[in-house]
Amino acid sequence: MARKLNRPHQAVDYNALTEAFPPPPDYFESAWLDEPEQIEAKQLERLKARAVKAGRVPFFRDRFVAAGFDPRKIETLEDLWRAPSYTVDDIRESIESHPPFGDYQAVTPDMAQEQPMRVFMSGGTTGKSRPTLYTAWDREAGAILGARGLYLHGIRPGDTVINAWAYSTHNGAFHFDEVLYRWLNCVVLTTGTGNVTSSRRQIELARQYAATAILTTGDYMLHLAEVAQEMGLDPKADFNIRACPNIGDPKRLEEVWGAPSYQSYGFHEVQWVAIECPARQGLHIFEDAFIVQVVDPESGEPMADGELGSLCVTELYKTGSPQFRYNIMDLSLLHPREQCACGSWLRRMAPFAGRGDNMVKLRGVNIWPEALGELVMRHPAIGDDWFVRAVRENDRDEMIAMAVSPAPPSEHARIKGEVEALLREELGVRIEAEIVAPGALDALTEIHTSAKLKRFRDERGTR
Ligand SMILES: [Zn+2]
Repeated sequence: MARKLNRPHQAVDYNALTEAFPPPPDYFESAWLDEPEQIEAKQLERLKARAVKAGRVPFFRDRFVAAGFDPRKIETLEDLWRAPSYTVDDIRESIESHPPFGDYQAVTPDMAQEQPMRVFMSGGTTGKSRPTLYTAWDREAGAILGARGLYLHGIRPGDTVINAWAYSTHNGAFHFDEVLYRWLNCVVLTTGTGNVTSSRRQIELARQYAATAILTTGDYMLHLAEVAQEMGLDPKADFNIRACPNIGDPKRLEEVWGAPSYQSYGFHEVQWVAIECPARQGLHIFEDAFIVQVVDPESGEPMADGELGSLCVTELYKTGSPQFRYNIMDLSLLHPREQCACGSWLRRMAPFAGRGDNMVKLRGVNIWPEALGELVMRHPAIGDDWFVRAVRENDRDEMIAMAVSPAPPSEHARIKGEVEALLREELGVRIEAEIVAPGALDALTEIHTSAKLKRFRDERGTR
């Protein structure tokens, strides 16, 4: 029997979508200024619906049953604390036991005829990216959240914007394209990364078309400024850049480009969660689409307002794959609900303050030091002792993989080159290797002084 074929525009009720999640500029005249009671009433209504939907997905149903949590019995927002949380390890297990999508999705590709969908993937390059299936509604709602962020950060309808993200598994390039074209009426120049369109060409295009922003990493944005200077151009005076919504060092970006740079927070399973407003007193959470809790990274217990812990995120906007109390292990804190100088009552969180576990985001790629150690040890001249450091050099995050080799020091340079080539090949990003003699890492790993072997140190300071 032929299935009914739903096109994306038939699968989404756009009036219902924009009423529930107003896009900019309307958003900043409406939900952005909701009173606390309105915010919480909306959250409670949406939370009840999401809990019931999540309860039908095997991954969540099993956890709810095991924890004695009945998703039909949510009466207050506080009741969310009774639901079990989970981490990326649980998601990885789910993928391993139910490949390739895991059992945490509410839709599967065999439903794509009725329900058009796309897959987002985590940027992990350890061979096991986490997929998230987004329905047409989820994509559009996520793009509206992104449009709110870019609007608040200075991009306006009618602007010409360069999208210098790579079209890749994590889907950032395509997401930004949808944000700009569908919800901000911007004219998009799809340059791709510096590998696709050279940095000099990106600079020429930004000038010729008076681009108001270049969407890319903060590090690449700083690199582009250097290239502009080499070309005899002044990034502040010779361009029309009005916003730097580039994830990186906001202060440096502002100094170099002379345009405001605010912070934002999100991750691929839920997209944009929170954005900084010009008052710079924290990042406002899109509370019509999320409930954010902060928990103790070890015990999962609630942390008080103002205390640093791991973010535990529940989305309220999707129709497809839920995220319901996802302990993402990103460290931050919640400010108490107060009216901000910008007028909004939306709760604010602190910017990303590091990882609750050891994952490092290196130029948009998630890298676990443990995975790095395993790779390094594949080289025949490397013993079983290694240590990874994350450092910040020349406005870029870098990782250094230190490894012990019993080979004579005269061979270390050759081994270093081979290990670096191996890492580059496996991970797709450049990582420096440092080859040392046996025993040289003992002070770092604390092998003789601590019960728990240390394998990683983050030396990038506070960000
Ligand atoms: Zn504000």
